[in-house]
Amino acid sequence: MDHFTLRNGVLHAEDVPLTAIADAVGTPVYVYSRATLTRHARVFRDALSILPSVHIAFAVKANPNLAVLKLLAKEGYGADVVSGGEMDRALAAGMAAEGIVFSGVGKSEAELIRALECGIGQFNLESEEEGIELAALANARGLTASAALRVNPDVDAGTHGKISTGKAENKFGVPYDTAGEIYARLAVLPGLNMRGLAVHIGSQLAKLDPMESAFAQMGELMRAIRAAGHEITHMDLGGGVGVPYKAGDVFPSPAEYAEMVARVTSGWDVTLMFEPGRVIAGNSGVMITRVIRVKPGASCPFVIVDAAMNDLARPALYDAWHDFLAVEPTGERMTANIVGPICETSDTFAMGREIDVVKAGDLAIFRTAGAYGATMANTYNSRALVPEVMVDGDRWALVANRIDPATILAAEHVPEWLE
Ligand SMILES: *Cc1c(COP(=O)(O)O)cnc(C)c1O
Repeated sequence: MDHFTLRNGVLHAEDVPLTAIADAVGTPVYVYSRATLTRHARVFRDALSILPSVHIAFAVKANPNLAVLKLLAKEGYGADVVSGGEMDRALAAGMAAEGIVFSGVGKSEAELIRALECGIGQFNLESEEEGIELAALANARGLTASAALRVNPDVDAGTHGKISTGKAENKFGVPYDTAGEIYARLAVLPGLNMRGLAVHIGSQLAKLDPMESAFAQMGELMRAIRAAGHEITHMDLGGGVGVPYKAGDVFPSPAEYAEMVARVTSGWDVTLMFEPGRVIAGNSGVMITRVIRVKPGASCPFVIVDAAMNDLARPALYDAWHDFLAVEPTGERMTANIVGPICETSDTFAMGREIDVVKAGDLAIFRTAGAYGATMANTYNSRALVPEVMVDGDRWALVANRIDPATILAAEHVPEWLE
């Protein structure tokens, strides 16, 4: 459920007509609904309240906007970060260092040191080598780093190949078969407090079964590691819960997810950690775009919009679907290709899609753009970096400026020897 609805013929975010935001800020622009974000955060948290001990760390990479993180911090969320930059954002949003989990397959030495000095709550180790390095860095500073070992359970998440992370050939985690030995070797290193295991098999999962079998395997491994005399107090079950992008798509609800987790983890006696990203932020945001013009195509017209793959990369990267709706629909429908202005064929949002009739100058939105949207934006083709707005009831605020090409140009230099 979200708060983007048609009122008196105009799409609104909560009580604000999207036309007002487009007029004031220009397009393209991302718009987040505070009420929707808050609702998703609470529904997910409340669903997990059937479990004995829970820590929820929002996957910052899904939407790292400072205002979004602030809202989630107020809802009691910690953060799952994958870089020093994301860690700084989570801290700037007021999240407690001990509630932050540092994931990521290639944490640099500098990042590990900064995270240690900040007192980050848990490092999710992606290899034995990383654990040895972290232990030495912590020990040299008289610190102890709490850590979990990320395990690759070799399960097929059943999602798009580019967002699958739990197959043996993927770069993430350590192989399931050797995880027990690696844990045992890391557990005795000074400077390291091995406290658990972590798993994350992929994103936009439509079915619970792959997660359930991965979690069950993790339970087996946990028991084996405990039997070998090591302590496990935390189990990090990652993120990955999918959201519907298309009308008619059916996805497991947070309640069904929580029931599955409760069933698999019964008797584990640990703090369960979760790293949701998309399920919190996805439906909380839309991107407004304006139609530049419509031109004839071979089988149907091209609707050329002022947003492009640099502003919303998911269709180009993952063949992703985003619903496209006119901000002021007439009720008529047309079949069209929706494309951006960038000089790449992959700058295509939809082919042969049935959509609201739109013409040059009309506003439209791409729905479900709150996760992996603005955060992936770039300035390819020397375009501006897309701005972000948050709505709260009948008020709204710019929460990220548009960074125009002139500002980016000003950060470039021609060496003297080229003058
Ligand atoms: C990306 C990622 C997440 C979040 O995934 P969602 O599908 O957005 O929930 C959680 N944990 C890790 C380690 C990730 O890489």
